[in-house]
Amino acid sequence: MSAALLIHASQLLTLRGDVAPRRGPAMAELAIIEDGAVLIKDGRITAAGTTDELRPHSKNTEEIDCRNKVVLPGFVDSHTHPVFATPRLIDFEKRVAGASYEEIAAAGGGIRASIHGVRESSADKLAHHVLHALNEMSAYGTTTVEAKSGYGLDLASELRSLEAIRQAAQHWQGTLVPTLLGAHVVPPEFRDNLDEYVRIVCDEMIPAAARPVPQSLSRARRGIRAPQLGANLGNDTPQKLAAYVDVFCERGAFTPEQSLRILRAAVAHGLKTRIHVGQLTHTALELFSEFHCASFDHLDNLSDADIAWLAKSDTVATLLPAANYFLGLTTFPPARKLIDSGVAVALATDYNPGTSPTVSMPMILSLACTQLRMTPAEAIAAATINAAYALKRDDRLGSLETGKQADFAVFEVEDYREIPYYFGMQRCWMTVKNGEIIYLKD
Ligand SMILES: [Zn+2]
Repeated sequence: MSAALLIHASQLLTLRGDVAPRRGPAMAELAIIEDGAVLIKDGRITAAGTTDELRPHSKNTEEIDCRNKVVLPGFVDSHTHPVFATPRLIDFEKRVAGASYEEIAAAGGGIRASIHGVRESSADKLAHHVLHALNEMSAYGTTTVEAKSGYGLDLASELRSLEAIRQAAQHWQGTLVPTLLGAHVVPPEFRDNLDEYVRIVCDEMIPAAARPVPQSLSRARRGIRAPQLGANLGNDTPQKLAAYVDVFCERGAFTPEQSLRILRAAVAHGLKTRIHVGQLTHTALELFSEFHCASFDHLDNLSDADIAWLAKSDTVATLLPAANYFLGLTTFPPARKLIDSGVAVALATDYNPGTSPTVSMPMILSLACTQLRMTPAEAIAAATINAAYALKRDDRLGSLETGKQADFAVFEVEDYREIPYYFGMQRCWMTVKNGEIIYLKD
């Protein structure tokens, strides 16, 4: 749609405001307009207000009636691992039955299964899987996704994983932000030579992922038409195979010292940084202050000093409650304490085959409310404007304000609190990216 007017939304959640990321009480301010309307032109929002305010100025514009529906910014899923070949059903069944990590690995499950699957797959096959996941995400209201490599764990397979993300991005109208996670776990062949693997990540994977990709060329070669975007929206397409480097800093994965080496290599090659940290054991976050990381993710184990430090930093705390849920844990990250201390909190699916096989942001909102004790309003801010900030895209994404991309989701509910309330239910009616419908319920 080159121009359209959404009218009569029961609630239009604009999340307008001068400050991002949202912290403390501001996380609950959704700036709701009742009988809301949004005017869209050339992929951007040109006005948001009440239906009575906007209608007289929008003659001859296609109208979309959103009666009895809630309109909110498209979800920004800022942490996913979609590049894998098969689900990990052995893990699932065995873990439910009480098997240990070792027993699961011995039965052919565990991360080794994912590594094997990616190493044996072509870029085309992996891209097909990623695209399938992205289309499913759209059906739950997601318009922007951060996607990590991390199951290849050798130079060729990590680059092929990033290429798969890139190929999928060319077939999906949403925004895709690629991340190199070569330092996910140490692959089996380097178990006794960990430092050599860290060297490969620093000296081979990161430089290759940071090299510019001639994208007009790659689009033309594949015969894929660039999506119809408004002016200046093309800069959303990544210029390199990866925009970020991520590290799993954890016992059994990479030590803080190894993580520092890897992140320094990322910075040296002009890539931005984010870290998986504090999932199973505690690591002092201040160690990483030199990087001004976009996000620290998981954060199940935090000290009061970490929280005080985070509250003063620009780094977002990205919480991933679906992993705790799927692993059957009874403990969850301390969202309440983080928010009440002034930390900017985001939420994401952590979509991955081992610990979080879900693409549903509404399900994450529900877990955030019931398990993290976040309010429905805080959860929505965490999944939109704060998640956009966690990807450094809050200037274009995450709220419904004049000048931003026309990215929004329309839910078949009259009150936004119904979105986390009806857990596990599909209530998304329409998803729009840059003014184009990318999902419409049958
Ligand atoms: Zn993860």
